[in-house]
Amino acid sequence: MTIEYIKKANQVLANTYKRNPIVITKGEGAIVWDTDGKSYIDFVSGIAVCNLGHAHPRVANAIYNQAKTLCHVSNLYYTTPQIELASILVENSFADKVFFANSGAEANEAAIKLARKYFKDKGEKNKYKIITMEKSFHGRTMGTLSATGQEKIQKGFDPLLPGFDLVPFNNIPALKSKIDDMTCAVMLEPIQGEGGVCIPDSDYLKNVRKICDEKGLILIFDEIQTGLGRTGKLFAYEHFGTSPDIMTLAKALGNGVPIGAMLAKEEIAKSFVPGSHASTFGGMPLTVAAALETVKVLLEENLAMRSYEIGAYFKERLMWLKDRHDSISEVRGFGLLIGAILQKSGTAIVEECLKKGFLINCVQDNILRFIPPLIIKKEQIDLLINCLDEVIN
Ligand SMILES: *Cc1c(COP(=O)(O)O)cnc(C)c1O
Repeated sequence: MTIEYIKKANQVLANTYKRNPIVITKGEGAIVWDTDGKSYIDFVSGIAVCNLGHAHPRVANAIYNQAKTLCHVSNLYYTTPQIELASILVENSFADKVFFANSGAEANEAAIKLARKYFKDKGEKNKYKIITMEKSFHGRTMGTLSATGQEKIQKGFDPLLPGFDLVPFNNIPALKSKIDDMTCAVMLEPIQGEGGVCIPDSDYLKNVRKICDEKGLILIFDEIQTGLGRTGKLFAYEHFGTSPDIMTLAKALGNGVPIGAMLAKEEIAKSFVPGSHASTFGGMPLTVAAALETVKVLLEENLAMRSYEIGAYFKERLMWLKDRHDSISEVRGFGLLIGAILQKSGTAIVEECLKKGFLINCVQDNILRFIPPLIIKKEQIDLLINCLDEVIN
């Protein structure tokens, strides 16, 4: 059965993904099942999306109830879930205003557009360049892939959009020397996810903030992967004693339904006026109802704290593994965003773990990135550690 599905998929689906050879049909908590009825413990959670675990009853109910009530009417009208979700996000962050989109890339597009418009409104026509980081990941639209600091994402799609300058992450002198009269913003992930779980020095983000303040630049944090409890705080910037002017969210916001958000301070957000920016589906009641319930559960159950505690345990177990295997050179991470750096390609390890009933993920070819649901249990982590201990040899 699985073989037939995969054969059909390869006939009819665009070949844009290197997929693992299983067909997943069902999930519950941190477990998913395939068409053969085999179960897997999920250390990927749909790429840091299903923070509450799969098929969360409260989120499922919220979707069901909203679907029965009102799915969509467009932003020509007000709808109540949108108002409530924006209020919760504002109450729990640095931000004053929220724009809803449908994905991470779209949230970042909104951030890029807002940063440029802010300076246009001030009459500074030539201030449009945004400094972004090497190894960053901001999405796959033409704008966000131009902002992304990875050649493999950009290859074949040139000409890229002008107006993005790259500097190395975690390097203040390089950032300073790149800023010129045309720079309007600095955009970065507080911790780089796709780039390989890259963690900055403890004072780096504070220093970036200081430079932005001195030069009058907008600071944009892409928290699409790090946000909403993933790193052991509600937002990763909270670890670093600073905050941005604009922040983008997506991935975990809807626990599996597509929703993105751009949050901004009032002073900057006011450059978006009726007609500046829009999205047909952005903020639609159905996805927002799912996100609203997701964020409520995250806050009520303090899953950011859980991520912090269980993440510390997970890291400790990975350090134990590192001591036993020379092929692991480093373990690093915050909360439940953890990378194990290998001296070799991780592809075979991912394949072997899959066979043994574990979904894990590898980025940059040699970095195992562990991003399980925040409700993952210690026993499930122990099972993975035992599996890795066998497989790595
Ligand atoms: C996943 C991701 C994006 C892109 O989100 P999409 O929903 O795939 O468009 C952007 N930035 C970061 C940091 C991400 O991890």
